[in-house]
Parts: sequence; C-alpha cells; structure tokens
Amino acid sequence: MSREDYEVVIGLEVHSELSTKTKIFCSCPTEFGGEPNTHCCPVCMAMPGALPVLNKRVVEYAIKAGLATNCNIAHVSKNDRKNYFYPDLPKSYQISQYDMPLCRNGYVEIETNDGPKKIRLVRIHIEEDAGKLNHDEYGRGSLVDLNRAGVPLIEIVSEPDMRSTEEVDSYLKKLKSILEYIEVSDCKMQEGSLRADVNVSVRKKGAKKFGTRTEMKNMNSFRSITRAIEYEAQRQIEVIENGGKIEQETLRWDEVSGKTFSMRDKEDAQDYRYFPEPDLAIINISDEMIEDIRKSLPEMPESRRERYVKELGLPEYDSNILTSSKYLSDLFENATKVCNNPKAVSNWIMTDITRILNEEEKEPNEIPFTAEQLGELVTLIDKGTISSKIAKQVLEELFKNPKSPQDIIKEKGWIQISDESAIKEVVLKILEANPQSIVDYKAGRDRALGYLVGQAMKETKGKANPQMLNKMFLEELNK
Ligand code: ADP
Ligand code: ZN
Ligand code: MG
Repeated sequence: MSREDYEVVIGLEVHSELSTKTKIFCSCPTEFGGEPNTHCCPVCMAMPGALPVLNKRVVEYAIKAGLATNCNIAHVSKNDRKNYFYPDLPKSYQISQYDMPLCRNGYVEIETNDGPKKIRLVRIHIEEDAGKLNHDEYGRGSLVDLNRAGVPLIEIVSEPDMRSTEEVDSYLKKLKSILEYIEVSDCKMQEGSLRADVNVSVRKKGAKKFGTRTEMKNMNSFRSITRAIEYEAQRQIEVIENGGKIEQETLRWDEVSGKTFSMRDKEDAQDYRYFPEPDLAIINISDEMIEDIRKSLPEMPESRRERYVKELGLPEYDSNILTSSKYLSDLFENATKVCNNPKAVSNWIMTDITRILNEEEKEPNEIPFTAEQLGELVTLIDKGTISSKIAKQVLEELFKNPKSPQDIIKEKGWIQISDESAIKEVVLKILEANPQSIVDYKAGRDRALGYLVGQAMKETKGKANPQMLNKMFLEELNK
C-alpha cells in the first residue's frame, strides 16, 4: 500500500495573542518586545500573595471571536489552573479554562475544490501566555524574560475535520482574516501572535476509526506547517506499513532538517491536575453583553466581497483577493473614497503593491503609506498629471519615504509634460538629432517612430506625455 491508500486527518489548536492594551490578570502592557523583564509586576512574576484580576476586555474579545466563528457563548464560565512545571511559567501553573470554556461548537467555513466546507470548532477559551526562555548559544544556561507572561491568549480548538494541507492552509488563513477583521489580534505570525499546535494522524481510506495522533507544538509559519504535516503523515504511513504502531506523543518540527523529533510522551488532562482557580470569581455573561458585542461586530469579508462585486463592479477575482486581508480591504475602500476609481486602486494593490510586499517579505499591515496617499496617486494619473510609468516610481517612493504623492512629484520634478510648445520643442530637437530615422520612417519602416518616441522619453526622463509625443512626431514626419 502507498500514500494514496491513506487519508490524513488534522486538527488544530490555534493560539492567538489578544491585542488588549494590558495583560489578562494585571495592568502591565502587552506590547511585543522591550528590554527583558520591563513589562512585569508582582502578579505576572508570581510573587507570593499577588492576586490576579481578570481583564474584562479579554472576555469581550474572546466572545467577539466566538460570535465571528458561529460559537455558542456560555452564560457561566470559569478559570482553572493547569499545573505543570517549566521555568518560563513562574507560578508553576497556567490560568486557563478547562471544562467551562467561554465559547463552544462553532465553525469556520473554507473553500475547497469540492465546494465550501465547514471546519467545526470544539471550543474557544481564554488563558495566559508564558514567558520566554533565552538560551545561551554556548550552553552556559538560559535566562527568563517574563514580558510575555500574562499576555492574554485565546485558544481555538478545531475538530479533526481537515484532510489535506490545502484545507489546513485555507482554515488558518480564514481564521487569521476573521481575527484581523474583528480586531482582537494583530495576528503577526513572525511575532508569535498566531501559532498552532498541529495534530496529525493517518488512516486507511474508508476506515471509520481515527488513527493515533501526534502533535507538533507552537508552529508559526504556513510553510512549516505544510511541510511538517507532509513529513509527519509520510512517517506515520511508513511506520504502519512496516507493521509498527504510532505512539501518541508530542513532536518537535525541525525546520532545518525538515524532520520531526520526539519531545515527550503525550500528557493527559489528568497529568495537569486541573482545578478551579480559587483566586478568580466565576464569569457570568448576560444576554445583553452578548448582544452588545454582536452589534459591535464589523462587516465581515463575505459581505464586503459581495458589495465590491455588486456595487463597485469589481471582478470576483479582485474582490476575493482584496477581502482576504482586512488591511488590504480597508486600504482599497479608503483609497477609492479619495479617487473614485475602484478598478484602478484594485489593480495597484493586486499588482505593484503585492509585488513590492513580496519582494520585501512584508505583510499588508506593514504598508507604510496611507490609503489617502494611494488614492491621491490614482487621481494624479487620472488627471494626466503623471504617466503610469512615473506613477510606479512614485509608488516605490511611497514605500521608502511615504508622503503626499503631490509633494513627491514636485520635489523630484516628475510632473508630466503636457504643454504643447514644450513637447514640440523636444520633438524638433530629437528629429534634428536623428535624420536617419526620418529617412527610415519615410521608407515605410514604422519602427523608426517608436525609436524617436523612446528618445524623446529619454530626453525628458519619462516625463513627456506619450500620447502627445506620438501625435506630434506623426504630424512632423508627415509634413
Ligand atoms: P490536548 O490539549 O490534549 O492536545 P485537545 O482535545 O484540546 O487535547 O485537542 C486535541 C486536538 O487534536 C484537537 O484539535 C483535535 O481536533 C485534534 N485531534 C484529536 N484526535 C485526532 C486525530 N485522531 N487525528 C488528528 N487530530 C486529532
Ligand atoms: Zn504584571
Ligand atoms: Mg494539544
């Protein structure tokens, strides 16, 4: 039997750092980075006697996420202690939620080749992040940084509903986009704001029972997740084909070797000795609170997509790409408000802006210029103030040194020359310098015209209006 005879089964536990200003149980800032141990207080350092106070915003954000993913919101919920010893966890327990999470039974819909598919969510709960260990590269020891300890997280647990790396990719991208739309997390994967524990098992096609799963912890890049699943599925198939048994265990994915390594046996819930957190009250959630949060939810991608097609006349294709990210979608809408040319804005975003983002390995939320500046750029082209060639240079400049495109073209002297007498002057000068081209043109070689226009463009550093150049050269040549 081979790979084709097996089905891969994947379930994800996604951790997302919430973008509240302060931590979950104290008023320290959640800001990423900073000098080690400068965003800390007795609560997040677990000093004896320090008591946690639950940040109400964290509960609101988690409910928001639950509503946006079609979950039922619990009216009564509580925090529990999850006990384990690790040096980045100063209390030796993590305050999390065990049997009474805030949200249950939701789903996220993804697109697949066979149409839409619902990936069911078991639950979403709130918990605190741990600190970070900085390992000395010479093996002399490790230092702990507690700036991240107590940063609020939601954990979103899916059912094992995914069957391929494509589905996992779509699910994660969709989830990321939802969390960005509702503005509960910045989802910066490179900063660990969104990371996934990936559970993988395999079974013979047609089998009813799931195989034993392994779990790869804390993965924070789409590419590694795909590679890790491919590798792990193949490894499991080989073990089974050779008559072996899969052990339920926690694995570590190594990006360099492209392999998984055993970290430890899988721990069970009982290993964590969960019990209700005695220092925090039960969380009661009223219907009014849920309704208020529901009303505060912004327009979601599906609805935006429909509006772009129906009201702005954009192709489905454009609308899909633009709404895949809230940042791009907002950029598009706000720039269009300025220039009233949706298709042009869409083209800039989908071609040149996307290309530069890729080249610079940046995310849409790292675009340095404003929507108004992009709108202004489109207006300048539409009014004929600059050519589309110059506009590309302005865009490059916007990425390097963002300011009003009007100011950029003034400073750089990039305003298009559309003045008849100025154009004529250039045309005459170029003709005088290229008598052979005139002969060629008269002999029927049309390419000579293109050459002359090119020379004129060079002479004016790309600033001459190309339509006017063409027209005037023809007039002169046909005299
Ligand atoms: P734990 O925290 O112990 O890992 P959870 O129940 O919170 O346990 O999470 C289990 C995760 O593993 C879920 O995302 C679930 O979808 C996934 N999962 C469970 N069984 C399988 C399986 N046989 N194959 C793949 N994934 C699985
Ligand atoms: Zn603190
Ligand atoms: Mg797990």
